[in-house]
Amino acid sequence: MSRMIKFFLLIITILIFTPTVALAKPRWIPATVLGEVTKDTVASPKDDFYTAVNKPWLMENHLKPSDISTGTFSIESDKIRDDLIALLDGAPLQDKEFATMQLFFRQLCNMEKRNKQGVRPLAPYIKEIENIKTIEELSAYIVRLDRPANGLSGEGASTDLKNASVKSVYISATDLTLDDADEYKEMTDLGRRLKASDEYEVTEILKLLGKTEAEAKKILADSYKFEELLAPHIYGLSVTKKSDIYEKIYNLRTLDELKKSAGQYPIEALLEHFVKVGVTRFVLEEPDWLDAMARVYCQENLELMKSYLICNTVSAMATSLDQRSIDIAMESAKIVYGKDITYTPKERAYYRIKGSFSMNVGRLYASHFATEATKKKLSDLIDRVIAIYDKRLEGATWLSQETRQTARQKLASMKKFVCYPEDWSDFDITKLDLKSDEEGGDVISNTLRIGEFYALKNIREANDPVKKDKWNMSPATVNACYSPLKNSITITAGIARGDFYDEADTSRIMGGIGTIIAHEITHAFDKHGSQFDKDGNMKNWWTQEDKDEFEKRSSTVRDYFGSLEVLDGKKLDGELSLGENVADLGGLSCMLELARDYKDFDYKNFFTTYAKIWKSQMPREVIDVILKDPHAPGYIRTNACLQQFEEFHRTFGVAEGDGMFLAPEKRVKVW
Ligand SMILES: [Zn+2]
Repeated sequence: MSRMIKFFLLIITILIFTPTVALAKPRWIPATVLGEVTKDTVASPKDDFYTAVNKPWLMENHLKPSDISTGTFSIESDKIRDDLIALLDGAPLQDKEFATMQLFFRQLCNMEKRNKQGVRPLAPYIKEIENIKTIEELSAYIVRLDRPANGLSGEGASTDLKNASVKSVYISATDLTLDDADEYKEMTDLGRRLKASDEYEVTEILKLLGKTEAEAKKILADSYKFEELLAPHIYGLSVTKKSDIYEKIYNLRTLDELKKSAGQYPIEALLEHFVKVGVTRFVLEEPDWLDAMARVYCQENLELMKSYLICNTVSAMATSLDQRSIDIAMESAKIVYGKDITYTPKERAYYRIKGSFSMNVGRLYASHFATEATKKKLSDLIDRVIAIYDKRLEGATWLSQETRQTARQKLASMKKFVCYPEDWSDFDITKLDLKSDEEGGDVISNTLRIGEFYALKNIREANDPVKKDKWNMSPATVNACYSPLKNSITITAGIARGDFYDEADTSRIMGGIGTIIAHEITHAFDKHGSQFDKDGNMKNWWTQEDKDEFEKRSSTVRDYFGSLEVLDGKKLDGELSLGENVADLGGLSCMLELARDYKDFDYKNFFTTYAKIWKSQMPREVIDVILKDPHAPGYIRTNACLQQFEEFHRTFGVAEGDGMFLAPEKRVKVW
């Protein structure tokens, strides 16, 4: 995780994002950008469907103090947040896990105590790093599990890509402040803002700790020097966005091979815990990085590496300190997102609790707000969508009989995780012993306890078989996902509400949660999912001819979406967004096929609901962040996807010359 990760975490639930399309000039208003749509904006459904549907909402500023961006997903997320804050802030919760969360929630909210402590709790952790004198002492420090921030690499057990019933320990490269290694080659506007933001935060907090401006700047400069030594040997977005990335990172190594490549870097000590529980499978994600680390990790660079660790520690702990430090962190976020961001202490505490205990927060939500009846109805709906999908795969005559058969088997084996799990035992936190303020605990010490608790759990279970039924998305999250390694879709209780799920109206259900379910299913057959078999193993099940045809179809989607201008001349990345665009198109195709089964289906309602679920709003600066996200902005997800369908043209009488028109021969799709 990079220093900037906390910002990205803030927007992670926003599956949605939005901009404009154009060939020569933008064809649609970049309506997602705050201020682009006003009461004077003229938009007809034939020219700019997204703006026409959402204009009444878009012309008002909906961004709250706590928002980086907002939209249908975050409107529901905020309601869930407020409901759960009421529980955490209310009467004592009897359930032991909930009581643990409540204890930490209260402690996080106790700003009086935190302000009294100021930045003092951070000081010993910085001192500890400053006291390191030799490379051996540095090694002893980075192998500890009770560090407050990331070390120089990541080690963790996770499902093996080629054998999905066992785990391997993955060794990942050093986290970079600018997140994307390509930024170190050629810095973008976003990169410059991320760097300025990091510099501001680290400098100001180090000054609170008593450093002079010059001392703080030196620490930052040294930290960047260290990152620059490694960045050329770390994959940037230009590499990670390609479909062969899984093959690229899957480099099985023995411990001996790793030791040989690592020089003085204490790889053996870093993996020792895993070896002790019997792990023998190691995956080195980036061999070039380890070669570089072997050269860089020496006494000569000791100060640079210490500076890197100091900067990481400051950034990781800033929002666990007093109000002054929180204000600095938020001021630094403003440099990236172009907007003041303010959370109430309770909102901030909730996000921390959800970050640390996402599934337990999910259980709290499910136990108070989800119903058996909705779970059953949603499960039935998913079955219907799967049945239609099967019919579509059967009829996909551009594929050989053999490949179609295997695809249908994969669909038939797909696991459904609906609303909430029945068995929560995998997420047990009853053995986590947090100390309240009264017992002498504080935010920092409990944060460290939580980090160590999960690290030890990962180690303890590293050699256990993979639990295929284990959930990986919180029921309190307004989102859905597909996991290629489990061949499973997750549709959370959090998304079965609001505009997504209007139980009374079939066309709205289909335009809302229906397209989301079919979107997730399509991920099983997109550029990534298609590389995994029905059991979640990375394995080619395509004939060469079918694969070529799949790639041909995919390239039309890549090219079309890649031709769309998002904002200020910046185009959508057709490769990065390919999987999501294919999933959006597959989701719509599938639902439109299901629509044929209904007499008098309300297409207008269906398309309008679709446009509504993707409504969103954000400051101009956030578009740069979205351009590095695989999801296209909401207005493109709406307009560029809907114009691929004849039913849309027919429903709204769209004809040549209209902004939404796309000639039949130019339309693109994979599924
Ligand atoms: Zn998706």
